[in-house]
Amino acid sequence: MSHFETRAVRTQAQPSDFREHSVPLYLTSSFTFEDAEQARALFADELPGNIYTRYSNPNTSELIEKLCQMEGTEDGIATASGMAAMFTSMAALLRSGDHVLACRSVFGSTHQIFTQIFPRWGIGHTYVDIHAPETWEAAIQPNTRMIFVETPSNPALDLIDLTWLGQLAARHGLILNVDNCFATPYLQNPARYGAHLITHSATKFIDGQGRAIGGAILGSRELIKDIRYFARHTGPAMSPFNAWLLSKSLETLAVRMERHCSNALQLAQFIEASPESFWVKYPFLPSHPQHALAKQQMRLGGGLVSFELQGGLARASRFLNAIKLLSLTPNLGDSRSIVIHPATTTHSKLKEEERAAVGITPGLVRISVGLEHPDDIVADVAQAIEASR
Ligand SMILES: *Cc1c(COP(=O)(O)O)cnc(C)c1O
Repeated sequence: MSHFETRAVRTQAQPSDFREHSVPLYLTSSFTFEDAEQARALFADELPGNIYTRYSNPNTSELIEKLCQMEGTEDGIATASGMAAMFTSMAALLRSGDHVLACRSVFGSTHQIFTQIFPRWGIGHTYVDIHAPETWEAAIQPNTRMIFVETPSNPALDLIDLTWLGQLAARHGLILNVDNCFATPYLQNPARYGAHLITHSATKFIDGQGRAIGGAILGSRELIKDIRYFARHTGPAMSPFNAWLLSKSLETLAVRMERHCSNALQLAQFIEASPESFWVKYPFLPSHPQHALAKQQMRLGGGLVSFELQGGLARASRFLNAIKLLSLTPNLGDSRSIVIHPATTTHSKLKEEERAAVGITPGLVRISVGLEHPDDIVADVAQAIEASR
């Protein structure tokens, strides 16, 4: 099973005695023991097997095996949400006095963990600028344990060179943790560049239809062992139903991403060609400042397009209010195209200068390009640009 698509479709648990073709849903909180000795051995980790769904379940195990096949990692755990994955991947390995180096443009709730929650427990962080990689090495402290990044960034779609970053982490013996939610395992595999942990919000492109919240942490057997211990006793487990749904979704990830990306490229090209010459950001547009890097580390440009309407907040509001087809909702990675105004919604908790530092201007609009016909997506955006003028 050397090809991504085949692994995505064919990695699955052994059928039960019913010889089912599609993986069944195991809605059970616990699993029975054959006898007292097996119970003892399972609890002592002397035997592999399921005990209780907070620890493991056939559906979550199947989802993780598939994700490992797709990311090129040894092991992982499924979590109730992407944030549970981000938090657990750090809280399980860090202790009071440790320090994390993070790119400034992290997801909003990840920013809250760094700035509001971890300081309560004596875990520090330093934000480094995605545009100034030459400053990162000097920001590493003697107590730095982990580097946490997102690439492409949200919503500015800036990239971090993973080859360079993997070498930096290796040189300093740091755990490199990459939130790979925007790229998905189909477009980018951080483990190839030396990332030790890959975290996902499965809520986005992995689900792909806006139905379920979920997350995953993937990495080496050794790191996941410690993370699994932490998760087993703190309880961020994914429900079997969501695992079952998300595992099915992975079977179509490759074909969906191909279309998300071709639709996004078409939309980005249209916006760029507009006579108003808006500033548009899409990794596979030749005008993207890191286009060559995008081509090197990403299979395609991704499903998100960000652009700046000249006319600031007022114009952006008129644009959103004129949209007819696209949905106004904070999610992304859905089969339905979604438009959002980051400055007043997802990133409204940041201070003005914090937003400016990560490229979020008052006129910036982010579109998660869905699976409608690209001509219809472009037509809706075109009429809303016109109407907002
Ligand atoms: C949505 C998102 C998260 C959080 O995931 P949830 O499933 O909503 O908890 C983390 N990182 C990125 C980049 C995201 O887009």
